[in-house]
Amino acid sequence: MPEDLPALRERIAACRICEQHLPLGPRPVVVPRPEARILIVGQAPGTKVHESGIPWNDRSGDRLRDWLGLDRETFYTSERLAIMPMGFCYPGVLPNGGDAPPRPECARKWHDPLLAHMPSIELVVLAGMYAQAHYLGKARKKTLTETVRAWREYGPRYLPLPHPSWRSGNILKRNPWIEAEILPHLRAEVARLLG
Ligand code: SF4
Repeated sequence: MPEDLPALRERIAACRICEQHLPLGPRPVVVPRPEARILIVGQAPGTKVHESGIPWNDRSGDRLRDWLGLDRETFYTSERLAIMPMGFCYPGVLPNGGDAPPRPECARKWHDPLLAHMPSIELVVLAGMYAQAHYLGKARKKTLTETVRAWREYGPRYLPLPHPSWRSGNILKRNPWIEAEILPHLRAEVARLLG
């Protein structure tokens, strides 16, 4: 008998697997929903998300919602949208000040059990290179931009995107086809799947 979702959520909430690597300690932020048709796979919480416990509660989240064509209320309340980052807890920063990568233990341990409780997912948005590495594997191209440019190869289930951090403003400027081709497709799919 598979573990039910409330029990799984309790185990995740109590997870300490990579505690020694987390500068602010464990605080898993993940929103599985059994009726989800869309799944957002990002990187890992930043400090604002760690403090609030609310996923995508920052400027990256504002940009993601714009890309999806969703307001905050729909984004946070729709039973058809789930949020599962590559790492559920804030991983700290690198010596150069950049974001540390999501802890690799996390997706390996928790993604498959959570996905087993979300059988209706039709679209997985892979926001950033860590999500793309995990879900596309060898099908990934040499660079993130090339992978995103080849987005049609991964559909209909997977859609690779840049991570919507402040840096993605530059990526969008250099690659206007993202806004011209991918975002209209994404918004139409989101509207269809959220009904
Ligand atoms: S990042 Fe993931 S594996 Fe590490 S403590 Fe948090 S929930 Fe557990």
